[in-house]
Amino acid sequence: MANRHEFSTSTRKQALLRSTKRCEAVGSWYGLPEGLRCSNDLSLGVQYDHLILDANSKDNSLDNCRAVCPKCHGWKTRNRDTPLAAKTVRQSFLGMKTRVKAKIPSAPKSPKPKADKLPVPSARPLFAQARTEA
Ligand SMILES: [Zn+2]
Repeated sequence: MANRHEFSTSTRKQALLRSTKRCEAVGSWYGLPEGLRCSNDLSLGVQYDHLILDANSKDNSLDNCRAVCPKCHGWKTRNRDTPLAAKTVRQSFLGMKTRVKAKIPSAPKSPKPKADKLPVPSARPLFAQARTEA
């Protein structure tokens, strides 16, 4: 059974090191004020979050890994998949990855079940343009 892409043990370790055991969640993606870092104590629980969803990018690099507290991870999982809440951020952040994310029909064990219902209309044209030019 193909699992969702996971960070390697070493990536997790590095992320945790980088975090100095403080939640690395920053800004609106995690329900925080822009630019503000959560910094919760990760010894109470740490989760490794793909900053950019990994469906097609398969980006399990340290760059794409955030060691975050369960609270932030939960918030992001719930809210980032809500088009209205996350549209702006996602567009500026993800750019062309937006569409990819919508094409996860049945990620098994996915904690982000709403991924397949985020038609972000205004994002499509941007994406289409970018692709056409490429
Ligand atoms: Zn946090």
